[in-house]
Amino acid sequence: MAPKENTQWYDLYHEVVDTGLCTGCTACIVACPFHVLGYEDYRPVQLQEDGIDQCAHGDKGCSLCTLACPRFREWEGEIDQQLFGATRSPEQVIGFYKDIVLARAASPEVLAHGQDGGAVSALLIWGLEHGEIDGVCTSKLSDGREWDCEPAVVTDAEGVLAAAGSRYTYSANPLAMLKAAEMGLSKLALVGMGCQASAPGSMAARRVNKWAKKVNWTLGLLCSKSFTYEGLMVEIAQKELGLSLDDIVRVNIKGKLLFYTKDGEELTYGLKKSHVYTRPGCLHCPDFAAEHADISFGGLGQGEGWTLTIIRTDKGQDLWDRAVADGVVEWRPGSDDQGAIDLMHKLAVKSRERWRMDTPWSTPGVVPVSEEAPAGAGTA
Ligand SMILES: Cc1cc2nc3c(=O)[nH]c(=O)nc-3n(C[C@H](O)[C@H](O)[C@H](O)COP(=O)(O)OP(=O)(O)OC[C@H]3O[C@@H](n4cnc5c(N)ncnc54)[C@H](O)[C@@H]3O)c2cc1C
Repeated sequence: MAPKENTQWYDLYHEVVDTGLCTGCTACIVACPFHVLGYEDYRPVQLQEDGIDQCAHGDKGCSLCTLACPRFREWEGEIDQQLFGATRSPEQVIGFYKDIVLARAASPEVLAHGQDGGAVSALLIWGLEHGEIDGVCTSKLSDGREWDCEPAVVTDAEGVLAAAGSRYTYSANPLAMLKAAEMGLSKLALVGMGCQASAPGSMAARRVNKWAKKVNWTLGLLCSKSFTYEGLMVEIAQKELGLSLDDIVRVNIKGKLLFYTKDGEELTYGLKKSHVYTRPGCLHCPDFAAEHADISFGGLGQGEGWTLTIIRTDKGQDLWDRAVADGVVEWRPGSDDQGAIDLMHKLAVKSRERWRMDTPWSTPGVVPVSEEAPAGAGTA
């Protein structure tokens, strides 16, 4: 349900952007029909010259940026209602789900390209080849900066495989929806971390239909943070570990930062020490488990080469069942790796504690509601 009063950029700026709750997902920029929002330092900026919190279109009644935002006011409950027909209880720290499995691509080529089990890429290729989707909004390695990444649209298996694997800097994948629309694509898969995977849900819940209707699948990535490029690739990789960027073949996070080189070397760096390089937009994000995706995927498994897969929506269950029946992915029950599921819960609780305690609206379940909070707060 849309916020009751007519909200606009002024409200979005003061309640989300300026308070540090903005993750930089770019849903507002995609939804803006007047193209007056730009993107700088992972934040939306008003391009008009009237003042950073002013929007002439907002003053005339346009509210699409605020409606699209997956962090605006009672976002979590509104999206839960839209996708699952209910709001979660405080105990549901990883959100609603139907099943948890360990999955991997059946194709050795896809498995080799994937970050964990290649399950995301396997489903994307299957979806493109069977006409379930006509394009994928995801990220690719950046053309400009080595080991950085940027939003991209891919439409075939080759593109999916070139984009596979994880980069731990931020790519605002929803922004690729603008390019996809220019390309005439209208049955998209959106891949992204929780901040991004909630965007189709907020758009649908608040009737930003033009964009909500373009996304057929939302595939989420578990995520506790991303890093600034300067922090991860310059300070840690190059200065502290002495790596040359063109020697790195893979970066991963498994309790610590792991850098793999062409020579087969593995260099590690402590996660605690890396905290200072966290991208500011991640600091207050409460969503570890990509809780509004159709299916969410993570690398928490104790064994290499499998993707921890959380099937959430009816649509997610349906596409998963059909992909399994077609032999695209192999799976084992999640209970084979209870340690991974327990860790996911632990990390989800930790992330939920990051939601700003002094924010009187949109209070995710485990955060206590302040007595001073206005009526209606804390219903998420
Ligand atoms: C920034 C980040 C943080 C993560 N943190 C965790 C974590 O803490 N715990 C955990 O269990 N899992 C985490 N993951 C998820 C994990 O790394 C894998 O993406 C997931 O297990 C799926 O593996 P796969 O082999 O099935 O995916 P693949 O088949 O390799 O597909 C991965 C997809 O992710 C897209 N992608 C890669 N990098 C980015 C990026 N920076 N931004 C947006 N999209 C991207 C690719 O384009 C591709 O479409 C994180 C992922 C990212 C990108």
